[in-house]
Amino acid sequence: MFESLTDKLSSALRNLRGVGKLSDENMAAALGEIRTALLAADVHFRVAREFVERVQAQCAGQEVLKGVTPGQQIVKIIHDELVRLLGEGATALSAARPLKIMLVGLHGSGKTTSAAKLGRLLKKRGYRPFAVACDVYRPAAIDQLEILARQEELGFYADRASRDVPAIGRAGLDAAMAAGADAILFDTAGRLQIDEGLIDEVRRLGDATKPDEVLLVADGALGQEAVNVAKVFHDALQLTGLIMTKLDGDARGGAALSIKAITGTPIKFIGTGEKTDDFDAFYPDRLASRILGMGDVVSLVEKAQESIDGAEAERMAEKMRKADFNLEDFLAQMQQVKKMGSMQSIVGMLPGMSGVQLGDDAELQMARTEAIIRSMTIQERRKPEVLNGSRRQRIAKGAGVKIADVNQVVKQFQQMQKMMKMMKMMKGGGGKKMMRQMEAMRGKGGFPGM
Ligand code: GDP
Repeated sequence: MFESLTDKLSSALRNLRGVGKLSDENMAAALGEIRTALLAADVHFRVAREFVERVQAQCAGQEVLKGVTPGQQIVKIIHDELVRLLGEGATALSAARPLKIMLVGLHGSGKTTSAAKLGRLLKKRGYRPFAVACDVYRPAAIDQLEILARQEELGFYADRASRDVPAIGRAGLDAAMAAGADAILFDTAGRLQIDEGLIDEVRRLGDATKPDEVLLVADGALGQEAVNVAKVFHDALQLTGLIMTKLDGDARGGAALSIKAITGTPIKFIGTGEKTDDFDAFYPDRLASRILGMGDVVSLVEKAQESIDGAEAERMAEKMRKADFNLEDFLAQMQQVKKMGSMQSIVGMLPGMSGVQLGDDAELQMARTEAIIRSMTIQERRKPEVLNGSRRQRIAKGAGVKIADVNQVVKQFQQMQKMMKMMKMMKGGGGKKMMRQMEAMRGKGGFPGM
């Protein structure tokens, strides 16, 4: 899907993601490439221009994150903008039951096929779907829908003798209700091009059946033309969503990327082949990741934003659980925490500590504790029991603190060690008593900030 667009955007971003320092020049070059790629994919010029402007504005106001390059951060901004463009969060179907869906669109757009595909998908979601044939001009279309409905084991209604579309719709609805269906799909007639007669007929069918969803089936391979078609249908019928078909073929992506921005109507489903299984709910973030081909960078930046290195925290928590945690580990842990910005999540991983909230001055205390540990030798960090009076004095001097501060850190660390040992034993049993002892200890101060 959208290979050419994917290639071009990926190459623009590949150049960008390695950039350690952003300048007006490298930004302008990358944004220019992105804009060219969008236009080449037949994205509406206004959409392409606004997209680049939004990315530019966001980059300007962005705080630099630790652990990622500015280039990577921009890739994430572009990804998020792409998701927004594709219609973030607006792609779910109405929750109404029974759910009445009217499918409209031009002849050959894939309407009848999509009715069957959607019926199949709804069935998988637990609905009992029912198809109503409302194309009174093409007997072949009625036959096609009937065959597909049989094949997918959907309910089906047609009246081959009637030309009264609203009456067929109402009768179809009654038949669906009588059959115990709770998702009714109305397949309407199409034309080769939009005309008033077609629109009027669909409008009257809508008045008769009061659909919860009016979905336009649009041929994605048509590019900008599909956008124009959507605009006319939307103005006339108040569409609730789109089914974009034929994205498996040589669709360049322009229609998919422009249609939400231009018409305000979100894509809800995509057709990706001729088989009834070639059909998916539309997820803007998935398509955005696919188009950019940069899922790794996006999740990297998300991680940095979440600001916690889960693996490292888990490793440390494991050491604590085994009571095999010395001051050196604690220092490493503090480095990690500083890089990530929050100790809360690590504390939350410790047995018995999940409810503990860190105090506001935790950072300050942590800085002092860090200075004290840094003034120790490796041996002292690994075996704090060697810390006699003269060593403590030396450390206090080195860290620029009072000897009492050093004593406090050592004492608190010893308490913490005791607690870890207890937790280790607690696994066997007698947990409640241990917990009470731990509570009492925590009352005595615990480790800085805890
Ligand atoms: P209708 O006139 O709008 O009802 O269109 P049809 O459902 O009859 O589809 C027209 C043609 O497009 C048929 O040959 C379908 O098999 C084909 N078609 C529909 N959807 C897709 C799709 O997502 N991908 C591909 N490749 N073909 C499709």
